[in-house]
Amino acid sequence: MTPPTITVIIAQCVQRSFISPLPGPDPRLKPCHLHCGYANAVRLLGGGPQRLPNALEEFLWLAHGGESGNVPGSEHVHVIYVDDEHHDDGSALTRQHFELFGRHCVPGEVDERGLEGYKGTGRTAEWRDLRNGRTHVVRTPGLNDNMFGTGFIPVLTSICQEAEEVFGVAPEGVQILNIGGWSIIKELFCGVWELMHHGIPDYRDPANREATIRFQRVALSDALSYSVQREHHNIALEITQMLGGVVLRAPEEALGFCGLRP
Ligand SMILES: [Zn+2]
Repeated sequence: MTPPTITVIIAQCVQRSFISPLPGPDPRLKPCHLHCGYANAVRLLGGGPQRLPNALEEFLWLAHGGESGNVPGSEHVHVIYVDDEHHDDGSALTRQHFELFGRHCVPGEVDERGLEGYKGTGRTAEWRDLRNGRTHVVRTPGLNDNMFGTGFIPVLTSICQEAEEVFGVAPEGVQILNIGGWSIIKELFCGVWELMHHGIPDYRDPANREATIRFQRVALSDALSYSVQREHHNIALEITQMLGGVVLRAPEEALGFCGLRP
């Protein structure tokens, strides 16, 4: 029997402070500087004058298995929500971060417009609680690193171990798809470069601290991600390809990459 293809979708910062509908394109309506903006919100979450579909949530819902929970292919698809989190602890680090980007992702906080910025975008807030063994949440205090000071490596390691022990898939063969926030920063650096070229510690060789698992097949979805500026997003897509990563265009290509057959 040929082993299945295991996919890990990294949903970077799919949170209301960053991806939520806005009443109009005026940038002053954004809850913080890191918000994707009106045009990106319509592109990702749908609506607007053309009544576009909610591409981001439709994709994630299929990845989770849909209403029935068993969309063909979804049994081999994991989703890791990497969430930004800033408890207002008064520390210099938090203060500086807020001064630079505006207040965002404070757990339990509702802003003056009623936005709960820390929560997951739209229905993804509920989906973070799915108990299907394939849905994971990692919280990170920093913009530029998934690896340091978060639970990211243990989650990815456990997925790799399961892939190897249950399905006979070598960890390097687990494939990664990046969606969500800041293709130019989080997805390109944390999602593509770190995973393809830096790697995560190799659990198969615990005595050798230099041993790493480097993922061979890493993709970034154009349709399901954004940077605040369009030109940055396009640069991120170009660099992804230069690094050996895959750029997927339409949402259907992301479904195909994950082996989802709705
Ligand atoms: Zn932040």
